[in-house]
Amino acid sequence: MTREELRSLVRTVPDFPIAGIQFRDITTLIADSRGLASAVAHLADLASPDVAAVAGIEARGFIFGAALAMQLGTGFIPVRKAGKLPVETISEDYALEYGAATIEIDPTLVPQGGRVLLVDDLIATGGTALAAASLLRRAGGLVDTALFVIDLPELGGAAALRSAGVAADAVME
Ligand code: 5GP
Repeated sequence: MTREELRSLVRTVPDFPIAGIQFRDITTLIADSRGLASAVAHLADLASPDVAAVAGIEARGFIFGAALAMQLGTGFIPVRKAGKLPVETISEDYALEYGAATIEIDPTLVPQGGRVLLVDDLIATGGTALAAASLLRRAGGLVDTALFVIDLPELGGAAALRSAGVAADAVME
């Protein structure tokens, strides 16, 4: 599918989770018989070489990240919301477009000095992806690229990532 066809599979839901937010709902894309595979194929086209592991952000980043890891022949590292991992973790607090949150990883999963490709469904302000990149770097990973299905460039997330030395790319805006 073309990027245009993929874009037509994303549903925009007004006023979710709060008034004024136009939520980009990817469930319609992944429920399509060709949508998920096509989105992952586009992500794989954008991936840098020599990826040692793919890290995906809970929860929608798990869907695309795990599929991309299989496509690239790497393992998958879950970046989880606080309190979900059963082992000792490292964590980062960050601000969201609406609210605040904490994410965690198991640092022993990160390949030392290896390129860790960060994946999420969408980048808005970039706060989530920046926190995830910081965690993966603290654990010894090389994080220089992040891929998203959707970028909302007017919210400045990709630019914020670039300032932190992470090149951000997306299948669609
Ligand atoms: P940021 O931290 O870049 O401001 O927000 C991105 C994070 O919030 C991602 O984990 C993403 O899943 C979620 N998010 C924020 N807005 C939307 C949206 O409109 N649609 C979807 N699917 N996720 C969103």
